[in-house]
Amino acid sequence: MKGPSYSATELLARLVHFDTTSDRSNLPLVRFVEDYLAQHGIASHLVPNAEGTKASLYATIGPAAVPGIALSGHTDVVPVEGQSWTSDPFVLAEREGRLYGRGAADMKGFLACVLAAVPELKKRQLAVPVHLAFSYDEEVGCIGVRPLIAEIGRRFVRPRVVIVGEPTSMSVVDAHKGPVRWHVDIHGRAAHSSMAPLGVNAISVAGKLLAELARIEQELKAAPRDERFDPPYATLQVTRIDGGTATNIVPVSCRLDFDMRALPGVDAAAIDRRIRAFADRECMAEMRRVAPEAGIDVRIANEVPPFASGSNSEAVALALYLAGQNETHAVSYATEAGLFQAAGSPAVVVGPGDIAQAHIADEWIAKDQLDKCMGFLARLGDWAERGKPVR
Ligand SMILES: [Zn+2]
Repeated sequence: MKGPSYSATELLARLVHFDTTSDRSNLPLVRFVEDYLAQHGIASHLVPNAEGTKASLYATIGPAAVPGIALSGHTDVVPVEGQSWTSDPFVLAEREGRLYGRGAADMKGFLACVLAAVPELKKRQLAVPVHLAFSYDEEVGCIGVRPLIAEIGRRFVRPRVVIVGEPTSMSVVDAHKGPVRWHVDIHGRAAHSSMAPLGVNAISVAGKLLAELARIEQELKAAPRDERFDPPYATLQVTRIDGGTATNIVPVSCRLDFDMRALPGVDAAAIDRRIRAFADRECMAEMRRVAPEAGIDVRIANEVPPFASGSNSEAVALALYLAGQNETHAVSYATEAGLFQAAGSPAVVVGPGDIAQAHIADEWIAKDQLDKCMGFLARLGDWAERGKPVR
């Protein structure tokens, strides 16, 4: 079967034209990919969300029963609202060797390269298959890839290696931090502010928690550093606070959100336990003496595990070989690499475009980044055909 063949730039223009902002459906894009792959004789397997409004796509080129090399990327993009763009963010525009459009760097450029490489991969007699793993809702906490990963070992053979194509300027990333987001809801009791002892001031309780969070922040900063990261320690920041209703009312509620960027090895669950224990011991008893209904609800809203390839990773060795490089890097942004690795597939991050150009107005990717990625994928085809170990 000989399906159509397009350049990475042509495919990127098609992908950018689908507005796949995370709060919208990605199904039109998924159907486009499904149809394109079908024209090359490749079957797609969809893993939809509960509402049926979004789906991840998984497809295999080559022998289906053999663990292969998965090329993982997300189809969603961040919003353009509030940003001032020179041209329509959903129409790819070329200016001076740069391709402008929402998602050009993060990360439809990688998806376009993978799709452009399909005809060439399909022509080869692959000993090691290549899997396409395109997910949704990455930008809102690596949500969509989780049900897809849950199918590994069931519908899908466990990939031998996962290459996550987030923008790294085609350098090989073997570690990243993991974001953890907490919501805390403090429920006190309202009272006239002149009768303060009858109430439980939720903002005052928040103040105690803020002090504890500041102590944890300092401890994380003082812990052994990993100089490969910038900054070289885990950060913890209170990022939102909201409470109170009027100047003369003891506030009944206060909500605060905080965000940690964990280094590999930092135990988010232990920090969660510590905050809960502090809330119980230092706040709750006193609150309940006045108001039995008072409470503090602490919950992790989203957690993406940090990623560390570990030494001797086949994924890293393969990526270095394919990229023609000999050194690896660590980054502070998160990807699904840690999730795949936790599911038993060694992972690595390497993809076209610069993270500095992601998420901003006039997001762009350099055309030569797409060329580099196409070279990487061509070498992957060579290697997968021979099927020799990397080391
Ligand atoms: Zn991304």
